[in-house]
Amino acid sequence: MKLDSQIPSGPLANKWSKYKQNVTLVNPANKRKFRVIVVGTGLAGSSAAASLSELGYNVDAFCFQDSPRRAHSIAAQGGINAAKNYQNDGDSVQRLFYDTIKGGDFRAREANVYRLAEVSASIIDQCTAQGVPFARDYGGLLSNRSFGGAQVSRTFYARGQTGQQLLIGAYQALSRQIHSGNVRMHARHEMLELVVVDGHARGIVTRNLANGRVEAWAADAVVLATGGYGNVFYLSTNAKGCNVTANVRAWRKGAAFANPCYTQIHPTCIPVSGDYQSKLTLMSESLRNDGRVWVPKKREDLGKNPASVPEADRDYFLERKYPSYGNLCPRDIASRAAKQVCDEGRGIGPAGRGVYLDFADAIARFGKKVIAERYGNLFDMYSTITGEDPYSVPMRIYPAVHYTMGGLWVDYNLMSNLPGLHVVGEANFSDHGANRLGASALMQGLADGYFVLPYTIGQYLATAKQPKLSTEHPEFKKAIADAQARLKRLLSLNGKRTPDSFHRELGLLMWNKCGMARNEWGLKELLKEIPALRERFWKELVIRGDAATMNVDLEKAGRVADFMEFAELMARDALDRDESCGGHFREEHQTEEGEAKRNDAEFLHVSAWEYRGEGEAPLRHKEPLNYEEIKLQTRSYK
Ligand SMILES: Cc1cc2nc3c(=O)[nH]c(=O)nc-3n(C[C@H](O)[C@H](O)[C@H](O)COP(=O)(O)OP(=O)(O)OC[C@H]3O[C@@H](n4cnc5c(N)ncnc54)[C@H](O)[C@@H]3O)c2cc1C
Repeated sequence: MKLDSQIPSGPLANKWSKYKQNVTLVNPANKRKFRVIVVGTGLAGSSAAASLSELGYNVDAFCFQDSPRRAHSIAAQGGINAAKNYQNDGDSVQRLFYDTIKGGDFRAREANVYRLAEVSASIIDQCTAQGVPFARDYGGLLSNRSFGGAQVSRTFYARGQTGQQLLIGAYQALSRQIHSGNVRMHARHEMLELVVVDGHARGIVTRNLANGRVEAWAADAVVLATGGYGNVFYLSTNAKGCNVTANVRAWRKGAAFANPCYTQIHPTCIPVSGDYQSKLTLMSESLRNDGRVWVPKKREDLGKNPASVPEADRDYFLERKYPSYGNLCPRDIASRAAKQVCDEGRGIGPAGRGVYLDFADAIARFGKKVIAERYGNLFDMYSTITGEDPYSVPMRIYPAVHYTMGGLWVDYNLMSNLPGLHVVGEANFSDHGANRLGASALMQGLADGYFVLPYTIGQYLATAKQPKLSTEHPEFKKAIADAQARLKRLLSLNGKRTPDSFHRELGLLMWNKCGMARNEWGLKELLKEIPALRERFWKELVIRGDAATMNVDLEKAGRVADFMEFAELMARDALDRDESCGGHFREEHQTEEGEAKRNDAEFLHVSAWEYRGEGEAPLRHKEPLNYEEIKLQTRSYK
């Protein structure tokens, strides 16, 4: 396997302009001769499909939901970053670039991150032109707030519904193209296989979730925009349908999987409340603009009404430990700090797994009305779920799985090592290193879809010179047969356990041994436990119904089977990366203050894993990270 990042030469700030000047173009009349498959219609996929179609390419777009508008992106709450410097507070492309690299604990590729910061401002213009109702200040200009890991206000937002409003914008752009006939939209279609012909990605196999039909689709290039894999932990803030199937299927066909162990744990989620809970709820990071995080200093104050704990007896531990960033230190750091105080026995709420997020000071300063204007829908959500009123008692929060920085390996073109297979949004590994800063996922997904892929895919299509293929090609027939055999095998199992029960068990194993803290012993245990659980899955599973109709159990079973396979890769990567960085916290490698301790001498690389066949250990390849512009430092937010 060859990993060539294809980074253009020359100074960092000129790379993208130089690339665009020199890129091979497809002339307008030839664009309509190409067909591109886009799997996924979240922010990354919708923006990509709409933009490619607008350019003149034919597009087949797929999602498993009943409408592209229901992609998980709709859940995004707090905002989207852009280096507009509207607040005149010192922001710039360079600063956004630096914050992102530092936030990712120096484990991201410089050139990609610089480009992301560079195009960020265009995203806001594009979305505003589409009518996205970003919050505005009194004078009518777009308003900003701050997110973690930044000392400027660069986050654009639409109350606590930024993802929804952005997705409506992208969906409108997509709908226009569907109406024009250039995009064929296939909702309720789940990709089950990638089709590779002569080393190039040439199509996919899907199952129609409404009637069970398994079909193949051919194209000149395939784009995966299938989101992240946080649901490998079962409990996460992700939508229930988020899965790793498309990525795993592509991995098995030769695409490298990069940094699978990099998981983001978000500090502000509603704590777990019972064994049979199926979902966790995020309380947006934006709340840390005004909310103060604390626990009682003394254990005897734990059961008390928080309002009765005097100021002097409260430990505002983020403000104490990280005075420069305070409550807005990055997620990995804030999550670990919350876990530490809970491990010390100072956590609040049931089982002591919680810390307060308190708005009393902000309400006293600005009034309830202003706080409701800023966060009203989040406060409503909190009170519906917990039965508590966050305007009068502090929220209780605890870290939870939220985002995955790992994904399929891509080069500067956002193309995987499999020619023709492009990967955008959360599904790729490209921009966030070992920890993503808040409000940067929406920025990346839309940068990829609106501004990067439309250039880079042309480079591939113009130069690949692949013959036209139909689904009559034997590789398509074989991929259909493989997908059907797998469905048949799942349905033939005659056990007693549901896909959900296996998923829950896998998630607990992963959370305990490959979650917020990991160590060599636990990971080695996990690498024995996952195959054993997988074996039981393939014996003890039961699925009601058949494959010829809508069958939710069958859908879940396929996804859980892929999570089982992927979990092992994740644990292997976590064991292999014998250092701590960002969200990957190996307990063996920490400073005296409990911060992550990197090992740049041995691990300044992207780990990209090659699939080598059933029962074979995957092979790790390294892409060295060369920092030309940025000086490596110990990350500090003090
Ligand atoms: C609660 C919450 C709040 C968030 N808030 C913010 C925020 O404020 N700011 C921010 O920057 N980020 C935020 N994030 C992160 C951000 O929402 C996601 O990273 C981002 O939306 C992912 O977009 P995407 O387009 O890559 O994938 P998704 O939106 O997850 O879309 C995936 C698409 O792929 C399709 N798909 C998946 N698998 C298959 C398959 N096998 N076959 C067919 N289709 C498939 C799905 O149908 C869907 O259309 C938040 C995340 C959560 C969970």
